Amino acid sequence: VKHPLKIAVTGAAGQISYALLFRLLSGEILGKDQPISLNLLDLPQMEQTLAGIEMEIIDGCFPLLHEIKYGSDPYALFKDIDVALLIGAKPRTKGMERKDLLSENAKIFIDQGKALQAGAKPTAKVIVVGNPCNTNAMVLKHYAPKLDPMNVHALMHLDELRAIAQIAHKKRVNVSDVKGVVIWGNHSNTQVPDVSRCTVKGQPHGLDENWIKNEWQPRIQTRGAEVIKTLGRSSAASAANATVQLLHQLMTPTSEGEWYSSAVLTNHGAYPLEEGILFGVPCRTKQDLSCEVVSGILWSDEEMIRTTEKELVGEREFCKREGVV
Ligand code: NDP
Repeated sequence: VKHPLKIAVTGAAGQISYALLFRLLSGEILGKDQPISLNLLDLPQMEQTLAGIEMEIIDGCFPLLHEIKYGSDPYALFKDIDVALLIGAKPRTKGMERKDLLSENAKIFIDQGKALQAGAKPTAKVIVVGNPCNTNAMVLKHYAPKLDPMNVHALMHLDELRAIAQIAHKKRVNVSDVKGVVIWGNHSNTQVPDVSRCTVKGQPHGLDENWIKNEWQPRIQTRGAEVIKTLGRSSAASAANATVQLLHQLMTPTSEGEWYSSAVLTNHGAYPLEEGILFGVPCRTKQDLSCEVVSGILWSDEEMIRTTEKELVGEREFCKREGVV
């Protein structure tokens, strides 16, 4: 029997987490032979909700559940963890500007970075979902220097899944026939969905340039807002799906010639980008489960890359001015 994997989830009383926890415990993501210890974290006022979620999880009668704990202290709940799924973040409310969101969230991620530094296993893998996820992850990494920078990810995988689904629909093929899409940059509407290396059923994609530029790219960049407008609330289930799918990617060697998009610290040097920001790039998981950036992919639109880079540099500069990093 495998040793239980200790997974911390923040924002565990929220919508994304609600759609995520049962997926984790089903065994589809980490294997039917991988026991899981869950540490659920949320704000002190959410304790009652966490108690209820714990009851539902117990009632799920999952053979893979080794242990469950909940609370609001990251130092207690990040102790010895193998994985952190950081979903909790302050949502943008009416009248709030992006910089207000940045500073409110920076406080959360300073604390959580320190708590990871204090207690997490040095090999821990971290996925930041709470927005603005790239810059939240940048702040967190600053306070958790012991973590391998290639193990700290900001979620771009939902953008990638959206991008693949739209191409599969257009080409009338199965989603698994579409490979090689890349999402560069920030998880915001400046992101750069890229088909320069995309294949469909192993052949060049053959998609119309005009469709790519004027329909596909803008649709992927603004899909979150489109879902909110249609559904009346945010895309929690698909965000949860993308989070567990990325976790699966990080814990499974990537097939030869393939990659997934994820935002990692730019200090890897694989692309000429400003250092010290988390930028979406193509990544692979090696046999030893370490993560590497796939180099050598030519950007099809450098101007768009520089725009999303500039946005991330701006967010970092703001954090510097505020004394956050
Ligand atoms: P959700 O679970 O729906 O969303 C949580 C975060 O994920 C938000 O920042 C949201 O960003 C982000 N997100 C990223 N991608 C997506 C996507 N595709 N669709 C939707 N959201 C996405 O929020 P809830 O309000 O239901 O739950 C948040 C929980 O976090 C609450 O229980 C709250 O108490 C908790 N929280 C915990 C903190 C902590 O642990 N210290 C601090 C603050 C809050 P966006 O806002 O851009 O949609």
